[in-house]
Amino acid sequence: MKTINDFNFKDKKALVRVDFNVPQDDQLKVTDNTRITAVKPTVEKILNDGGSVILMTHLGRPKGEVKDEFSLKHIVDEVSSVLGQEVKFVDECIGDKAEKAASELQPGEILLLENLRFHSEEEKGDEGFAEKLSKLGDAFVNDAFGTAHRAHASTAVIAQYFNSTKFFGLLMAKELQAIDKVLRKGERPVTAILGGSKVSTKITIIENILPAIDNLIIGGGMAFTFIKALGGKIGNSLVEEDKLPLALEILGKAKENQVKVYLPSDAIIAEAFNNDTERKEADIYAIPEGWMGLDAGHKSRDQFNDVLLNSRTILWNGPIGVFEMSNFAGGTVALGDSIAEATKLGAFSLVGGGDSVAFVKQFGYGDKVSYVSTGGGAMLESLEGLELPGVAAINK
Ligand code: AMP
Repeated sequence: MKTINDFNFKDKKALVRVDFNVPQDDQLKVTDNTRITAVKPTVEKILNDGGSVILMTHLGRPKGEVKDEFSLKHIVDEVSSVLGQEVKFVDECIGDKAEKAASELQPGEILLLENLRFHSEEEKGDEGFAEKLSKLGDAFVNDAFGTAHRAHASTAVIAQYFNSTKFFGLLMAKELQAIDKVLRKGERPVTAILGGSKVSTKITIIENILPAIDNLIIGGGMAFTFIKALGGKIGNSLVEEDKLPLALEILGKAKENQVKVYLPSDAIIAEAFNNDTERKEADIYAIPEGWMGLDAGHKSRDQFNDVLLNSRTILWNGPIGVFEMSNFAGGTVALGDSIAEATKLGAFSLVGGGDSVAFVKQFGYGDKVSYVSTGGGAMLESLEGLELPGVAAINK
């Protein structure tokens, strides 16, 4: 893997694709700067070498039009504050103005370009647009893991204009190494926990990871399709009727791969999909009509805990209950505690993809696991075994 650590950026201008697609409030103030903080090591390495940094990113979905609300001028102060020095801003990303600002940049300085998606060519992966961008820097660095699954001009196409001077940033490298550590070099036993609402969105992941894992914990809404396929009575719980045969097929494939599958044995059931409804605990194979399972029961939590404390590598994607409602968050909290404990005992734990990342942040588990991925879709596609265009372009 070719990272920025393989190059000395002295007197070079590094064009760095970052993912500053940050959440903002109605005054357009940044409400969570995690994505900016995440690229700090990359920026510091380039500046410490004696180079300068030109940051390029998208923000929101302006769909190829210049729209003030999506301008990066609204986030430049936050970027300066996080990176600890003044960041210059130019209200274009290609053309004379951008080229002038880039050429005037001195070693040690940082420049932020205007939103790439003000040009429709960005998302189309247009070569002409990518070539214009490439003129701004001497080297291309991709540190935007969150958009690495897109073959856009600035994430993939641009790399062809930098023969030997294209590199992964340190955030990208960390993300790719974390996936590698689980799926290719994972110390055994390797346990994957898959939760969330639907089997259909996780099927490719399951198929791809089976050869790499020893244990598969299935929880959340998707577990009910398996329980029903196995003959259980699931009441009004979430189910994908058309995926019942597929669930059995997955269980068969797991067996072929000698993967032990752990399904919940009990559930917290509710009369309605709402936090304050009547609730009780039930055998997951015998949920009464009119009730639905919204969280893992206590026996299941204990069983998952035993598996996790005996694991050396852990991958977690998807909550195992409706954690957004406090009365049904207990199972996912218990799971978070088990993963934290296993990590303390020396296991490597990776949390990746969408809602489990939101959970980890919201409930304060970020420091208790080994790595929390910053890229939702990109992480999911990596787990599905796909080569990300943004990664392939650097590796070429
Ligand atoms: P996904 O985006 O597929 O990972 O699904 C995440 C969502 O699954 C979260 O919003 C959870 O609330 C939801 N979820 C987890 N467990 C259940 C369940 N038992 N019934 C319905 N939804 C669930």
